[in-house]
Amino acid sequence: MLSQRIFYLMILAVKHVFQRCVMACRAMTQTFFFTPLVFFCALFIQGCGKESPVENPPSLHTFTGQVMGTWYSVKYLPPATAVLSLKELDDQIHVRLSHVDQLMSTYKPDSEVSRFNRALPNEWFEVSAQTFEVVSLAQAISDKTAGAFDISVARLVNLWGFGPDHQAVQIPDEDRLFAVLIEVGYEKIELHSSELKLRKKTSLRIDLSAIAKGYGVDQVANFLDETGITIYMVEVGGEIRTRGLKPNGKPWRIAIEEPSTGQRDVHSIIDITDHAVATSGDYRNYFEKNGQRFSHTIDPQTGYPITHNLASVTVIGETAAEVDALATAFSVLGLDQAMQYAKAYNVAAYFIVKEQEGFVGKASDAFIAMTRKEL
Ligand code: FAD
Repeated sequence: MLSQRIFYLMILAVKHVFQRCVMACRAMTQTFFFTPLVFFCALFIQGCGKESPVENPPSLHTFTGQVMGTWYSVKYLPPATAVLSLKELDDQIHVRLSHVDQLMSTYKPDSEVSRFNRALPNEWFEVSAQTFEVVSLAQAISDKTAGAFDISVARLVNLWGFGPDHQAVQIPDEDRLFAVLIEVGYEKIELHSSELKLRKKTSLRIDLSAIAKGYGVDQVANFLDETGITIYMVEVGGEIRTRGLKPNGKPWRIAIEEPSTGQRDVHSIIDITDHAVATSGDYRNYFEKNGQRFSHTIDPQTGYPITHNLASVTVIGETAAEVDALATAFSVLGLDQAMQYAKAYNVAAYFIVKEQEGFVGKASDAFIAMTRKEL
């Protein structure tokens, strides 16, 4: 008797799920984001439907951890013939990220960057090839963005309370701000490429927060490439790089957040493969005073946080270091200049602007071409 009831209940359950599927599929034609169940059904239907190229796809290995004051997640399909064990692969991933952290952190007093920041002006300071590579890329992006991206903003970041010195978040007085501003300027940093040395003309400090997380992602991606892993998604604090298609044959799905404060919502989803993605915005790290928002993204020309209504910028490109830096540079430039840059250099960028009627998305031509989405 009991077994009959259980069997009957199971039939009911399957029927219920199936009905929900049919219903949700009907609904799918109306609105995409209906319920989490929709997503389940989409996966399920994919299983039976015509599109899914891979039945019973092998499962990805996921490795997560903490580094650079944030979290990381690496999903990859272990190679069939692995030279290294999964543990050894994961250990190597953590070693590479920790090494970037140890070299480039302004939160670690003994890091290479912190020691350079304490060095005296006009004295050459030898750095590692990795730090030199990141500073060179940063300087190149500063040149191309007319100084909107500028690693020499460290003392300004601290002055506004967003840096490792944990000063109170406050609007600094004009004199102090001016005293720091005259020290800032990427053109005051010199690079000696044959000897891997840096020199600064003032007592400026550098901050690689807007480029080194991306660089860390690239280091892990390069390592996975070297070990013959061709399917992966590497993420450090929101900076992402992907390779290949997921085991089910589909591209990696990346959510672009709605730049609203407090709750976390999805603004849109893009399908990505073999590219890096980074987002920068003013909706996570900021303080408000007299109704005005002051975020951690600083305009090196004025010494003030950005004040325009560009709330979030997502950039897609080859390397995570470059898109990480470009996303911050575009946040400083503002919509019009950033869109001009994106047009001139064919950069795939998606901008979310805060307008009366709410958040409005604007995509560069390259973004539309790459994602085949106007969003
Ligand atoms: P992004 O938009 O990617 O970068 C914004 C950051 O860049 C700002 O916070 C500021 O630091 C800097 N910046 C502002 N304006 C400009 C500009 N015009 N040009 C260039 N740069 C600018 N955080 C911790 O709390 N604890 C830690 O121990 C810690 N360690 C870190 C170690 C490393 C190696 C790095 C790279 C970062 C570390 N951080 C740490 C910072 C943290 O991981 C984030 O980088 C930071 O919170 C900003 O990240 P984001 O992606 O939101 O901002």
